[in-house]
Amino acid sequence: MFEKIFIERDILEHQQTKKILRTFPNIETQVIEKVEDVFARVKKPYLQKRDTLNLFLGQKKGQLVKEAPDAYGISGEPHYYFIHAYNCIYECNYCYLQGYFHSPDLVLFINHEEICEEIEKVATRDYQLGKTPWFHAGEFSDSLALSHLTGELPIYHELFSRLPFAKLELRTKSANIKEIENLTPKDNIIITFSLSPADKIKNNDLKTPSLKARLKSIERLAKLGHPIGIHFDPVVYDDDFSSKYAQLIDETLAVLPMSSLEYISVGVVRFTKDVYHQVQSNYPKSELLSSELIKSFDGKIRYNRPMRLWILSTIKDLLLNRKVDESKIYLCMEDEDSI
Ligand code: SF4
Repeated sequence: MFEKIFIERDILEHQQTKKILRTFPNIETQVIEKVEDVFARVKKPYLQKRDTLNLFLGQKKGQLVKEAPDAYGISGEPHYYFIHAYNCIYECNYCYLQGYFHSPDLVLFINHEEICEEIEKVATRDYQLGKTPWFHAGEFSDSLALSHLTGELPIYHELFSRLPFAKLELRTKSANIKEIENLTPKDNIIITFSLSPADKIKNNDLKTPSLKARLKSIERLAKLGHPIGIHFDPVVYDDDFSSKYAQLIDETLAVLPMSSLEYISVGVVRFTKDVYHQVQSNYPKSELLSSELIKSFDGKIRYNRPMRLWILSTIKDLLLNRKVDESKIYLCMEDEDSI
């Protein structure tokens, strides 16, 4: 899977480092002082991840918990994300990580205890202000894809078990639920799955598990009692999108009882200008480029506003018609409060 593993000197003896290295006994390793001394120092094309991928193990420095942008999650509450990895083993063709770090190499930070301390500080402060803070894992990676290898989930599970007033979102496109299955379900730890119609997953979510595999994972975790969130995001328009989403909603609700459903968020595909250029160069034949996209109010490339509203309201109506509680439907509008 990896060509070479770079390890920061200070964490050579860390048990998390040893655990990861035991998984790859035959891969060449190199000791470095700091991840940033080597990672992305020479620009590496995004698609090189298909052939040669390096792994970096280090400690996250600087701000460990960051405020999430507006419209990141359920509105009205503070949202934060924390970073324990850079980059992803999957290859969604709309991914904003394209070119973001100037390297697709994977970085895993292993100082989870420090990250947890910071989360606890922020969560306690917000709780004392009468708020319910949300923390999102995996802003720059997938939260579960490598969780069997990285082994950090029990650490965050223990923390959030002590902080029932704060919520943790673990967002994924994977079907890698082994680690979660071993943990006691908690009302405030929500596993969220990004879903698209099966053909869109095949065309756009390259190297990710199929819709069928993701639905099976949802069913399994719901049965075990884990709260589940669903992201229909990004919605990529085509002439049949309405019937495709009707089918996707039916398939999802067939395996996910309403009692286990925390929320469903819906958002249409959008790109920053830089990512859009990356998509054009990396995936010139992608259906993403054939759509009617415009540069909109905040400089992002997306469908025009009437089209966005129409797509979102169509999917919202499909959900309401299937008796999904309106309070559980969240539309990622970015420029509007409601629809
Ligand atoms: S799963 Fe998320 S982080 Fe990974 S490639 Fe897809 S969009 Fe990017």
